[in-house]
Amino acid sequence: MIDYIIVGLGLGGIAVAEELEKRGRRFIVFDDASQNSSYVAGGVFNPVILKRFTLAWKADEQLKISIPVYKDLEQKLEERFIYNWDIYRRFHSVEEQNNWFVAGDKPRLQPFLDPELKKNTNPNLNAPFSLGRVRGIGNIDTETLLDAYRDYLEEKDCLRKESFLYENLVREDAKWHYDGIEATGIIFCEGFGIKKNPFFNYLPLRGNKGEYMTIYAEDLDLDFAVKSNIFLVPVGNHLYKVGATYDPNDKTPEPTVRAREKLTAEVKALINCDFEVVDQVAGLRPSVVDRRPLVGKHPERPNLFCCNGFGSRGVLLAPAMSKQLIAFIEDKKSLDPEADLDRFTKKYYRS
Ligand SMILES: Cc1cc2nc3c(=O)[nH]c(=O)nc-3n(C[C@H](O)[C@H](O)[C@H](O)COP(=O)(O)OP(=O)(O)OC[C@H]3O[C@@H](n4cnc5c(N)ncnc54)[C@H](O)[C@@H]3O)c2cc1C
Repeated sequence: MIDYIIVGLGLGGIAVAEELEKRGRRFIVFDDASQNSSYVAGGVFNPVILKRFTLAWKADEQLKISIPVYKDLEQKLEERFIYNWDIYRRFHSVEEQNNWFVAGDKPRLQPFLDPELKKNTNPNLNAPFSLGRVRGIGNIDTETLLDAYRDYLEEKDCLRKESFLYENLVREDAKWHYDGIEATGIIFCEGFGIKKNPFFNYLPLRGNKGEYMTIYAEDLDLDFAVKSNIFLVPVGNHLYKVGATYDPNDKTPEPTVRAREKLTAEVKALINCDFEVVDQVAGLRPSVVDRRPLVGKHPERPNLFCCNGFGSRGVLLAPAMSKQLIAFIEDKKSLDPEADLDRFTKKYYRS
């Protein structure tokens, strides 16, 4: 008899498992590697929406909750995966520079936006209107984190690398039974895989395909990340990650020629030297119609929970929302109404 089954081991599943472990709960995780959003993510944690210079939803609060979770994980797993750096926003016009100064005066943005502009001195970077520095951000190397966490769970003998077959879940004697396991609750963290979940697929999770390329640009010689229409992040040895694309219509998992052409055109507009595309990856972001997470309980089935809907901000949202969900389940604390999946129950749920 265990406390929980967790379905899915992306950023969401890891955050849920961590929170449960801190509370001494027993769990088993199922993962079938059918989704790879967390694997291919740039892993950037940045509370500012750099298109409009606004704060992402409650992102300053999430930063304070989530980064310590990754720091604890670094210690526990004895792996490094947090990298802190500044990102430079490339301005397209003087008007954008002015908007930057206005935004930087707002109290919640002030800690992140440096009012002093950086003049571009790199001849291979096309940035005639200077650059604005966003402070205190960085990225999580999600691949290293996921691999290390997977190994950790395997060693503890609580990972099953297989599909969770929803039709085999049975409710009996006030417990959930699945393939010889008896559990009090099930926490679903399947990302876009929620589409196959008969309990929660009524929720309006739409999905948004994202693609990243890695380029080799020997002469670029850039030691900081730049955000223009795309991110360009140096990863060492003259390699740069560039992306990502947003496609709400294509739900296939494979990289596409269309995205490669679009990203190549963006890179050509941003840098003035030769480059070669050496890799391309794709994933489906679990994005929701109203751009808020989906956490909470099933409207009718006891002890079935959902932790999903992190869209393009899983790094910051997953730990913060998982903490809320577990406090909701175990301590009867209330959920943020903007994230509670209950907001969709009346409109979409048909029993
Ligand atoms: C190209 C790209 C770039 C991105 N960049 C960033 C970024 O820079 N910063 C940021 O914060 N976010 C970024 N994101 C978004 C981020 O990746 C997601 O928000 C986050 O990874 C979602 O995590 P998740 O655990 O909810 O879902 P997922 O990562 O999709 O994980 C779900 C897991 O559940 C498993 N699963 C599903 N169904 C089943 C089943 N029936 N049985 C067993 N296992 C199952 C899947 O195999 C998968 O491992 C990016 C996304 C993409 C695609």
